[in-house]
Amino acid sequence: MRKYIVAGNWKMNTTVPEGVALAKEVAEKAASLPSNVELIVAPPFTHLSAVGQALKGSKVLLSAQNCADQEKGAYTGEVAAAMLASIPCQYTILGHSERRQYYGETDEKLVVKTRLALDNALKVILCVGENLKEREAGKHFDIVSAQIENVLFHFSAEDLKNIVIAYEPVWAIGTGKTATAAQAEEIHAHIRSVIAGRFGLDVAEDMTILYGGSCKPSNAKELFAEKDIDGGLIGGASLKADDFLAIASSF
Ligand code: PEP
Repeated sequence: MRKYIVAGNWKMNTTVPEGVALAKEVAEKAASLPSNVELIVAPPFTHLSAVGQALKGSKVLLSAQNCADQEKGAYTGEVAAAMLASIPCQYTILGHSERRQYYGETDEKLVVKTRLALDNALKVILCVGENLKEREAGKHFDIVSAQIENVLFHFSAEDLKNIVIAYEPVWAIGTGKTATAAQAEEIHAHIRSVIAGRFGLDVAEDMTILYGGSCKPSNAKELFAEKDIDGGLIGGASLKADDFLAIASSF
């Protein structure tokens, strides 16, 4: 069964007390959401324990924004998948375009990180998406296929049950420019067909594929109405509980 998910990527925003207050508000307001919608928040590493406590007893799940590509040891400043799992955290985002762009995240590294996350019982939200130059050159389908193949084709159909894909056109992230519902849907359908080609139709049909890029209460309904868009990865709008919940109520 395909799951509907709305995940909030807080990026490098909020202090710990601010994050805890936001999490408490999200947890309280999430109580009225339909049970088929999974809500996730992804605060910075420093907030995970406190936010996890604030979410206790609610249906909101906890995600990290990244994890290390090593198991443990002398890797100063890094945070291992096993550490995240011990908080406990249920998810980690991997391959966000900001990590690909500013921190040299490669598909090769993402294979390693995804393996480590899954081995530690963390689910993965794997981000893919083309930049503006690639979209203008008409290469968006190829870029996204390659990102999917380079990472997900190293995993099994069983592994894919614990992986969610987030399609995030880089030109739409934090820019206020949203892909139209039709633009997003054609890429989501393409992603599903790439998955089907490798893993079969049933696996592809069960896969949750989120849209991310300036998704807000005013456009979420139209995006989520598309048959291959199963929710959103939300940046800016996840920092306001009311906006985040309004998006999650848009199915
Ligand atoms: C994101 O960074 O994952 C994102 C979708 O950001 P925004 O919603 O702010 O465009």
